[in-house]
Amino acid sequence: MPGKALITGGAGFIGSHLAELLLEQGWEVYALDDVSTGSMENLAGLTERDDFHLVVESVLSPAVVSELVHKCDVVYHLAAVVGVQLIVEQPGHTLLTNIQGTENVLEYCTKFGKRVLVASSSEVYGDHPEEQLLAEDARRIYGPTTARRWAYADSKAIDEFLALAWHEERGLDCIIARLFNTVGPRQSGQYGMVIPRFVSSALGERPLEVHGDGMQTRCFCHVSDTVRGLMGLMDSGVSGALFNIGSQERIAIGELAKRVRAKAGSSSEITFVPYEDVFPHGSMEEMFHRVPSIEKIGAAIGWAPTKTLDEILDDVIAFERSRVETAA
Ligand code: NAD
Repeated sequence: MPGKALITGGAGFIGSHLAELLLEQGWEVYALDDVSTGSMENLAGLTERDDFHLVVESVLSPAVVSELVHKCDVVYHLAAVVGVQLIVEQPGHTLLTNIQGTENVLEYCTKFGKRVLVASSSEVYGDHPEEQLLAEDARRIYGPTTARRWAYADSKAIDEFLALAWHEERGLDCIIARLFNTVGPRQSGQYGMVIPRFVSSALGERPLEVHGDGMQTRCFCHVSDTVRGLMGLMDSGVSGALFNIGSQERIAIGELAKRVRAKAGSSSEITFVPYEDVFPHGSMEEMFHRVPSIEKIGAAIGWAPTKTLDEILDDVIAFERSRVETAA
């Protein structure tokens, strides 16, 4: 039975799509967000609804988190510092927000007996050189602490450890979703996310900047599939477990640039920029391939992605075009 759901990071890219899905299913939604990387634009059409409440505060505030967790029946914890660029630029801020914020949420979910879903990341797997499918029990392979990008992976790994520990030691009802690259309308390209960055450059006839040699591959999952997976996991009742959510359709980033350019009907140049020129020396280490195994979530809740990369690109291009036209 739908009740009240709290989404931390509810004004963000994934959080706002999740809010829409929950409202559609009859939930009353509380969104807690400091609107740092999220935006009011993401919530267009939601803020005037009686069953949607936005609280502009930080997940680092125990008093705010306590009150909202107490009020709600379930909690989706998505608030975090996200995006390679932000993480490389502000590793301390990343660690603090992602670890202390999660600690707060988990503390009050434990105290008030509320079920919580923690959004983790495929970054937790680290840098696997082989092209194997990553299953939830794969080893984690990390670089040195001087390469700042690992601050994000470590912060998410600590979140997972803490959720699993409170489950064992204090009976916390929790589930962890390890999200692989999620894309779709409303994702900002401002913090280094590749598809919105490429689409915006292609539509503006600016060069599409590929970092590295473009041979690194990624899989992209449509946000509508991702939020369906998050809700499915929450509803499953499974506790103290973690699940991958992601697409298995792989593409090399150089190839992705060509595909975006063709789909956008653009004549933009494609340029290749060494990592050292984009990120401060030694702070960035690229991961070459990352494909999820989705056997576990398939067996548990029958989830699989439904949208292809071509459909995703069409969707993002159409969204960006309408955004540019509205702004003009
Ligand atoms: P996003 O940046 O759009 O969402 C994060 C939200 O958290 C933003 O709205 C931001 O304003 C908010 N936030 C940040 N610090 C906060 C604070 N101190 N208090 C309250 N709110 C705060 O990014 P997203 O892609 O929607 O990510 C949502 C979650 O999914 C994150 O936990 C992220 O780590 C995880 N994730 C995303 C991807 C992806 O590909 N998009 C992949 C793996 C994991």
